[in-house]
Amino acid sequence: MKPLDPATRALVIELDGGACQWPGCEHPATEIAHLHSRGMGGTPDGARDHPTNLMCACWRHARYTDGETGDGSWAEYADAHYRLLGRQARHLLVHPDRLAYARAEHLRGLLAARRSWADLPNPT
Ligand SMILES: [Zn+2]
Repeated sequence: MKPLDPATRALVIELDGGACQWPGCEHPATEIAHLHSRGMGGTPDGARDHPTNLMCACWRHARYTDGETGDGSWAEYADAHYRLLGRQARHLLVHPDRLAYARAEHLRGLLAARRSWADLPNPT
């Protein structure tokens, strides 16, 4: 995979103030995380490396966002989901792809409410 475009990286850092955007986390970001996996095709409308699919994340939460905490086991993947969405989301635990989708959309909703999208380019 080609690295993230430097201008896009700079924009996401600016939008998020360089801080991890995982709910409740106040650590500085160490990387830019994809909410919907690039390899799985990105967002439902096909955006991969667009700011609407990216957020600043600390190391730990970048692993959670990618669904690969710790050893990447199913148990840890599910735990990351519960921490974010809570017990009410247990019914979503039917398939890893659906789990990842629900988490990504939840995070995207939080970011959309927090950020100003006025100056963003069209998704590519
Ligand atoms: Zn964090």
